[in-house]
Amino acid sequence: MSDGETKTCIYPGCERPAVPPHSLGGPQPSFCDSEEHNALSAHLERQRLAREGSAGAPASERGPATINEEGIPAVANEAYRAVFLRSTRPARWC
Ligand SMILES: [Zn+2]
Repeated sequence: MSDGETKTCIYPGCERPAVPPHSLGGPQPSFCDSEEHNALSAHLERQRLAREGSAGAPASERGPATINEEGIPAVANEAYRAVFLRSTRPARWC
């Protein structure tokens, strides 16, 4: 491809062209003009596809840790919970 001006929407499965860069400059957006295609929705869609295709996908692509619904590794979640519980529990034993 010699045309470096045209980007394609990076939303999974979307092949529409990305919106053109702003006339005043700045980087070209990576998504088409669909309101549903943005960094967050693309991220969620990729996670959904990863879950659906997890049977065939190599584990290395998803990382060694198990990922829960929120996309937080279980290990991190437990560490978070430990810190959270400790910091919010009032010191009552005085
Ligand atoms: Zn799109």
